[in-house]
Amino acid sequence: MSTEQTSATSGPTPVEAFKQNILAKLKYAVGKDPRNAYSHDWFEAVALAARDHLVDNWEETEAQVDRKQHKRVYYLSLEFLIGRLLVDCLSNLGLLETARAALAELDVDLETIRQVEPDAALGNGGLGRLAACFMESMATLGLAAHGYGIRYEHGLFKQVVSDGWQQEHTETWLDFGNPWEFERPEVSYNIGFGGSVRTEDDGGEMPRLTWEPNETLRAIAYDTPVVGWRGSSVNTLRLWRARAMEDLQLERFNAGDHFGAVADVVRAESISRVLYPADSTEAGQELRLRQEYFFVSASLQDLLHRHMAAHGDIRSLPDKAAIQLNDTHPAIAVAELMRQLVDVYRIDWNEAWGMTVATLSYTNHTLLPEALESWPVSLMERLLPRHMQIIYLINAYHIDSLRAQDIHDFDLLRSVSLIEEDHGRRVRMGNLAFLGSHSINGVSALHTDLMRETVFRDLHRLYPQRISNKTNGVTFRRWLYQVNPLLTGSLVDALGENLLDAPEERLRDLEPHADKAGFRKQFAAHRQHSKRALASLVQERLGIHLDTEAIFDVQVKRIHEYKRQLLNLLHTVALYQAIRNEPTTDWVPRVKIFAGKAAASYHQAKLIIKLANDIARTINADPTVRGLLKVVFIPNYNVSLAEVIIPAADLSEQISTAGLEASGTSNMKFALNGALTIGTLDGANVEMSQLIGAEHMFIFGMTAAQVEQRKRAGELDMSAVVAGSERLAGALEAVRRGVFSPDDPQRYEALVEQLVRDDRFMVCADFDAYWHAQRRVDAAWQKPAQWWKSAVLNTARAGWFSSDRTIGEYAVDIWKVPTNRD
Ligand SMILES: *Cc1c(COP(=O)(O)O)cnc(C)c1O
Repeated sequence: MSTEQTSATSGPTPVEAFKQNILAKLKYAVGKDPRNAYSHDWFEAVALAARDHLVDNWEETEAQVDRKQHKRVYYLSLEFLIGRLLVDCLSNLGLLETARAALAELDVDLETIRQVEPDAALGNGGLGRLAACFMESMATLGLAAHGYGIRYEHGLFKQVVSDGWQQEHTETWLDFGNPWEFERPEVSYNIGFGGSVRTEDDGGEMPRLTWEPNETLRAIAYDTPVVGWRGSSVNTLRLWRARAMEDLQLERFNAGDHFGAVADVVRAESISRVLYPADSTEAGQELRLRQEYFFVSASLQDLLHRHMAAHGDIRSLPDKAAIQLNDTHPAIAVAELMRQLVDVYRIDWNEAWGMTVATLSYTNHTLLPEALESWPVSLMERLLPRHMQIIYLINAYHIDSLRAQDIHDFDLLRSVSLIEEDHGRRVRMGNLAFLGSHSINGVSALHTDLMRETVFRDLHRLYPQRISNKTNGVTFRRWLYQVNPLLTGSLVDALGENLLDAPEERLRDLEPHADKAGFRKQFAAHRQHSKRALASLVQERLGIHLDTEAIFDVQVKRIHEYKRQLLNLLHTVALYQAIRNEPTTDWVPRVKIFAGKAAASYHQAKLIIKLANDIARTINADPTVRGLLKVVFIPNYNVSLAEVIIPAADLSEQISTAGLEASGTSNMKFALNGALTIGTLDGANVEMSQLIGAEHMFIFGMTAAQVEQRKRAGELDMSAVVAGSERLAGALEAVRRGVFSPDDPQRYEALVEQLVRDDRFMVCADFDAYWHAQRRVDAAWQKPAQWWKSAVLNTARAGWFSSDRTIGEYAVDIWKVPTNRD
């Protein structure tokens, strides 16, 4: 890539200047001499040097937005799965080669120091990574956008695999400090909990209600600059840290109660201590609700403060601010914004409600019933008494308005209510987010359709204009340019440098190259390079040798029953048995690669990890397999590991039970890098099959409608299916008998029993279709010209899956803000 800044006519060259800046940072900010600097010291010095460049553009961006009085976008998310920032920042600033050369002159290797940066893992998986991709795209498109979240001291746990079992260890990304963030102790807001509501008749039309919390703590801002492509604009990710009002109760301390003196501190600060370690299952914990309210309240106070400073009139809020709720985690914003407008700014209820709905919008990420957030009314009353009143009032006005429209259907009124009455009284956060938003979106075409038919069926009937689709995307800067510089180089050679500025449009021009043998050869050579890099990582971490000529068949994502790692594992076992039984068949060598974390409390998912490791150990040690099949489970899946694995994949496994994956985003990352997808018609795989062409993928299995029909008919007992498939029966039997767990032969009995008797995720039901799709993969691999043509076409046609395209749609349809592409 030749995106480097060119040198000025006089003065030091950019490389020399950057080198001097690194040395100055090392000496004055890190306090080290080049002779005794560790890798981490160098990392910090380079990060600080790069940060200087950011700050100039950052101030300029802010000044421009202020001057032009632009509408601002606020993205509220409990998760930001950021990963490392050094290369991201250097690359977007056009300083990557400058920094590499400057470091080389100092005898330091950029590749080494980029590895010492810890992953900022402030998220569980796809939802958090989406927020990070969106931040980068919003900066690239020049939107005046702010991200708001929590500065967790400990991000997602570190996964250690011990004897095949997952163990969770505390993650400590802040141990060596964080050179990217700016602490803003002066930006601090009070956050209340508990207490009561005081009514006061001040002679106005309505009595004045004031919440008097009995517990107050502070939210302190930490800002991280987010730079767009070519440094165009720099936005802010503002993360909140919880602090007690006072660090120490001196009186108690002096009285000898040393622990009691800091009890409040511990209680307050626990709010930003740790990321909730659950993924798409309801947390159901008070601390979680406290986290949600804490960051929502701080963010709303902050943005209202900014709005008043810039515009002086609260009533222009909907014209000057768009607030996006990433899933229901920030849904309490509906009640908090109402409280601010009505109680603090003294706006009349109806007008405040109109302003709230016009300002907020909400993205739904899951239809899984167990993942739909709801909070016990009793907990809400205790923790947020004023908000509970407001929620009751919103509900009452809403039901009244429906009755006024002559809607009296009891079931309908019950289903659109904010209060769930059936299983103890609970507040439905999804309904609250829906009612309080002018726009609700799903994250792929299929998911949005299902949303209209299931969770929000009745609300959709009442408000047919509100739901729209915004299919997810990924940022190509990270998921193509940074992870695959060789492929990016070839693309630039083929299509020109300006491909990098609009890949979502320009990548299509690559299509004719799919028919050029020379280009396909280059493409395959880059894959080999990435596969060798992954193989050496596996060798280093697991001591397992991988044959890079084999198909790298990859499934990396959170471990969840609906994502069906079990289907892949059963295929692995069936393939193993086939190789043993038919040694003379011309088997295509495969490497099965798994990675992913299980929620700490999700026992079945943890058992699946153990099974993957048991199967891997058995197969890898069996000489009769002759290296035709290898299985690896790479521990501690995170963004940095994804960056190594994705460009090395030949085959991308996207095999969720149809109807259950909202979108998926790793499917897009793999396709962009030219892996072929084996997948179900689920989530964004549907759009992929339309845009890339089903003939360049391996689509199999039941459709969402078929799954639904089968569930409705109660056909979940698969005994007959198993009896009818020798291969499936053989694989299940081996797992059940303990072939892979001789130390504990009963370990998987219950698991297999459930697959056969109560196959909710359609693993058995889809097995044969999956097996045959895998044989189509083998056949395609044996025709390299065809395989690599498909691979090139996957890259060429993946442009639409850029998060720039997604953000462009949010900007036009939901936020009503211009982008720099307009
Ligand atoms: C992209 C990404 C995800 C999302 O993966 P899916 O397969 O879409 O669920 C999760 N974790 C990390 C680290 C990612 O980079």
